Amino acid sequence: MAEVILKEICKQYDNGIFAAKDISLTIRDKEFMVLVGPSGCGKSTTLRMIAGLEPITSGNLYIDGERMNEVQPKDRDIAMVFQNYALYPHMTVYENMAFGLQLRKFSKEEIRHRVYEAAEILGLTEYLERKPKALSGGQRQRVAVGRAIVRKPKVFLFDEPLSNLDAKMRVQMRTEISRLHKKLEATMIYVTHDQVEAMTMGDRITVMKDGLIQQTEAPLELYHHPVNRFVAGFIGSPAMNFIEGIISRSEGKILFSEANGPLQLELPESYSGLAELSDDGVILAGIRPEDIHMTRNGNECLVWGKALVEVCEPMGNEVFAHLTTATGNLKGHSLISRSYLETIPRHGTVADIGFDCRKFHFFDQKTGVSLANLVMQES
Ligand code: ADP
Repeated sequence: MAEVILKEICKQYDNGIFAAKDISLTIRDKEFMVLVGPSGCGKSTTLRMIAGLEPITSGNLYIDGERMNEVQPKDRDIAMVFQNYALYPHMTVYENMAFGLQLRKFSKEEIRHRVYEAAEILGLTEYLERKPKALSGGQRQRVAVGRAIVRKPKVFLFDEPLSNLDAKMRVQMRTEISRLHKKLEATMIYVTHDQVEAMTMGDRITVMKDGLIQQTEAPLELYHHPVNRFVAGFIGSPAMNFIEGIISRSEGKILFSEANGPLQLELPESYSGLAELSDDGVILAGIRPEDIHMTRNGNECLVWGKALVEVCEPMGNEVFAHLTTATGNLKGHSLISRSYLETIPRHGTVADIGFDCRKFHFFDQKTGVSLANLVMQES
């Protein structure tokens, strides 16, 4: 059992900055929890407080039901893997992995057994006598992970461990860490600014902004039901499209009219509650790139508008079309559509674009809070 509980944890640095505000979060036994958010949102600070590397200003931290606030890092039964690997350059891979165990006075045989076991899991057996400088970035990071594994800690903490690797190695190490999590059945808390890492690795994801938790959910739940504009825009690549507009009723229809642009979309009756919820009808619509179509693909639920094609990026299996609804003096909105297209639309042409009307998200224009829970939506 290794459950980590944060209760109303705050961190104020000496310079007055509140890096973490009222963080309450339960990381379940054996869970892979990802803390994600833009740079400066407080995710590393939160992780470092769990590790004991930063004092907690207020609130309580429990590991396995035991209050940890004043417990020394070395006595917390956790192991941390850092972005910069933090290996000792003058030691071999074996010595780097063994060092922490030697400090803890493990027997030589036990150390040897654990290092060889970790090296086997991580494919490092043939590199045990090398020094870090003779290893690739990916191998060095594996040594850093190995050093954590040999300790057999209750909780693993990862602070942006893949940031220094090239794109291909990042993808590979992502899979390795996920596999390791399944094999070790350990509780892991992983900090990253990369939403793709968060989506692919996390059992659950906690999205943070300005020291505050925005939402904690399983990846797909987060993707499909973001609680506010920030989460909606942060999770997903390319990011969700946002269009400001006015909701109105006209002759029994529900109309969405783009602010400062020409789009007029007729929405299904299921959105009728929106007009009452929004302030003077002003609302922010969100729609993901894959829900804007450029062909009549048999989808019955498309509502059509027009947009100017600015740039098309063929990705092989799909096309990212950068569009704008701007016309004449109207500023319009920039949109991205992501779909499979047989012919790629020419830049400068006006294209028909179909919005999947079941897939709209609506947010309060001022607060950014999702109105989804308040509106009956078609499934
Ligand atoms: P993240 O990991 O999300 O990038 P951090 O937790 O590192 O964010 O930082 C959160 C906020 O706290 C930032 O505004 C940062 O500048 C500030 N901060 C981080 N470390 C310190 C420190 N040692 N002293 C003062 N302010 C800090």
